[in-house]
Amino acid sequence: MQTDRKRAIRIQADSFREKCKISKYGIIDLFKDCARLGYKLLRYPLGENADLGFAVKKDNDFVIFTNSSSRLSREIFTLAHEIGHSVLHLEEAGSFIDDHITITGRSSDEKEQEANYFAACLLMPSDAVHRFIDLEIQHSHEKGLSAMDIVRIMSEFNISFDMALHRLENLSIIDSHQKLRLDNEKTERKVGNLLQSVGGNARLNISGHEIEIPYEYIDYTIYNYNHNAVPKETLERVLAYYRLSIEDVSDKLVDHKSDDEDDLDDLIGGLND
Ligand SMILES: [Zn+2]
Repeated sequence: MQTDRKRAIRIQADSFREKCKISKYGIIDLFKDCARLGYKLLRYPLGENADLGFAVKKDNDFVIFTNSSSRLSREIFTLAHEIGHSVLHLEEAGSFIDDHITITGRSSDEKEQEANYFAACLLMPSDAVHRFIDLEIQHSHEKGLSAMDIVRIMSEFNISFDMALHRLENLSIIDSHQKLRLDNEKTERKVGNLLQSVGGNARLNISGHEIEIPYEYIDYTIYNYNHNAVPKETLERVLAYYRLSIEDVSDKLVDHKSDDEDDLDDLIGGLND
């Protein structure tokens, strides 16, 4: 990515961040900020092997989906990545679907790399990271950062351990040797235990299985159910979220033969109808 383009993305990430609620250094709840800023947000536990998220522009609305079977810290990064697409790449109608390859930076697609860079700058801007390390972490200059320090950073910025390491390396705060050492320390001591020992946010390391669906998406779920794209159990769970049962919507349902797997393409097809 060219230096000018990187700077342009930092400017966009910074101006989005200004609209978010920040604690001392990190964004407190990016999901809430998105909802407040008018994004149509969907969260649903599609399973660990399913796609991680998507961003769609429909009419003048941005629709963002995140798979809440991911660990919360991963789901937050997916959200930031999808916001990146919406800000950088969705001026016209269109859509992006993301999986483990695009989100973890293993895709060579330029737009995927840009969305990841946007997410990193939104969640962990250079100045806030430097300020946090300087003011909140003792002896970091003499001793370097420990795995405990990384989980402190993780808790403040609501990111995963791996993303923290990745970003710290990109900001030249740690080098590749330190990164390897910290990664080994993580494997030995387990992130969940480390989080506990610093009184950090343990929720980051587990999946929330959150369901968050704007009421109008009940119709999309029914559409998908009618097209065999989601099983009956999914429809029941979505309805239960609004305290409804199958009987309450029976007039909208067609006869059902087989239960196929969840299918994001169909859901997007539903959105574009
Ligand atoms: Zn993407």
